[in-house]
Amino acid sequence: MLKRAVFLDRDGVINVNYGHVHTPEQFEWVEGAPEAIRHLNACGFLVIVITNQAGIAKGYYTEQQFLDFMRWVMGQLAQKNARLDAFYYCPHHPTEGFAPYVMQCECRKPGSKLILQAIEEHQIDPSKSFLIGDKESDIIAANRANVVGLLFSGGNLLEFVREQIR
Ligand SMILES: [Mg+2]
Ligand SMILES: [Zn+2]
Repeated sequence: MLKRAVFLDRDGVINVNYGHVHTPEQFEWVEGAPEAIRHLNACGFLVIVITNQAGIAKGYYTEQQFLDFMRWVMGQLAQKNARLDAFYYCPHHPTEGFAPYVMQCECRKPGSKLILQAIEEHQIDPSKSFLIGDKESDIIAANRANVVGLLFSGGNLLEFVREQIR
């Protein structure tokens, strides 16, 4: 049986977007974000992060630093009894940075490749799933994967989620 999922953008949805956040010191929860993720866990959704990380292409941090930081974020969530089931990231940028990351790719949102990959790897029904992002490019990426995209423009993420799935 296919599962339902909520795809979350990271920067601006889970953590405050200070630009290329990649250390615990730069990290600040969006209000209600851990509680929203815990709520989605409890409602039976897979919770999967889909994130553009052009800071890797631009050399602000390495892919390994990004992975270490995501492990730290997931540890912080675990302390609040919340869980990410997976995360997918694009390390590329179309014009800036260094090889092998400077390229026109399909995975950078508004491309939908990462969402489609997650749908396939986790046996997800896109018609029973949605994506929350804070940019138009997130919504376009979702729609290209036949997933409803919801634009989160700030405030409390738990309240936003509750209004969408009541
Ligand atoms: Mg964002
Ligand atoms: Zn990419």
